[in-house]
Amino acid sequence: MITKNGPKPKLGDYRKILEAKAEEVRRSMSAQKAAQVVARLDIPSDEGDLSQQHHEEWIFLNRNSIDMKLLREIADALHRMDKEHYGICLECEEPISSKRLDAVPWARYCVSCQERIAARIAEGEYVDEFQEADR
Ligand SMILES: [Zn+2]
Repeated sequence: MITKNGPKPKLGDYRKILEAKAEEVRRSMSAQKAAQVVARLDIPSDEGDLSQQHHEEWIFLNRNSIDMKLLREIADALHRMDKEHYGICLECEEPISSKRLDAVPWARYCVSCQERIAARIAEGEYVDEFQEADR
């Protein structure tokens, strides 16, 4: 996506990073799923500890939902890239520092907006939806 008005120098790099990360998350999700199926086969149906099994299931689902969230964050970031809004804070519309993008390539907000939003979430003003997956 090269434009005449000065392309963001590292945009292509971030796209590669995001796509690689999405691939990694997808792969780890299917690996977890496979491990879960194998574990299931080892549990005798008549004497399996059900509460333990439910606990493991919960962890599995919970971990998966974090992965799902991360995948959505990455998809959103790639979408913003297509719309040429990538690296622009959704709150104050200032460019997000490359240092922050290096750490969190799918970041939606600059550091100061993210901190403000995190504080609002802590106060219960915002729902979880606005929280950023952090990995
Ligand atoms: Zn901002």
